[in-house]
Amino acid sequence: MDLKKRFTNAMNKNRLAHALLFLGDNQAQKEQTALDLASGLLCENKIIPFGCGHCVSCRQISKQQHPSIRILRTESEIRIDAIRDITSAPGNPSWVIPEAHLMNKQASNALLKTLEEPRNNQFFILIAPNTRSLLPTLVSRCQRIFFKSAPIQIENGSAPSIPENLSDRLELIERFSKDKSDLNQILIAWQHHASSEFKNALLKAQEDLKKHVNAQLILEALLLSKNA
Ligand SMILES: [Zn+2]
Repeated sequence: MDLKKRFTNAMNKNRLAHALLFLGDNQAQKEQTALDLASGLLCENKIIPFGCGHCVSCRQISKQQHPSIRILRTESEIRIDAIRDITSAPGNPSWVIPEAHLMNKQASNALLKTLEEPRNNQFFILIAPNTRSLLPTLVSRCQRIFFKSAPIQIENGSAPSIPENLSDRLELIERFSKDKSDLNQILIAWQHHASSEFKNALLKAQEDLKKHVNAQLILEALLLSKNA
């Protein structure tokens, strides 16, 4: 399901999580989507999920001037003072944190407390390249949305190699579970350098994919048992 549909469904059912975590490499796209989603939440014409784009509210948000949508800009480590500014901001605005991975541990814990007691109509959109640099409890508190990076170029078997450590493998699984054609491409590409045993596993995975077995399960079966 694409993002737009996903957000539309969630908003129609009033089930958009109050804490969202946007992951992936494409920073500009993640930030733009955060603002678009904020527009959808506050649009005077109630156009979901991304707003009408021309009411006062939508225009203020696109200029990053809406009083109810604040953006925590930072260039270095995010410390607890910044989080205190968030929690004490008058009017309980929603926040976009474009560099959430720069939060130190204290700041993360302080934000976690805030996320555990969401106020009505207050949303937090955290943006980070991946989950590794974030406090795991914070990650588990958020609804994770993975943004695909630019279309994956797989030519002549130059697929991303299979990482050695577990957290990188989980990340790869997360990334390739989203799109079956990407997954199929990478399964083919890996066959170029595979041992005969792993090649059989890859062929089996391709068959499973054709039978509509869940992509994440396929990748987990393939990668979590494999020796590096
Ligand atoms: Zn609007």
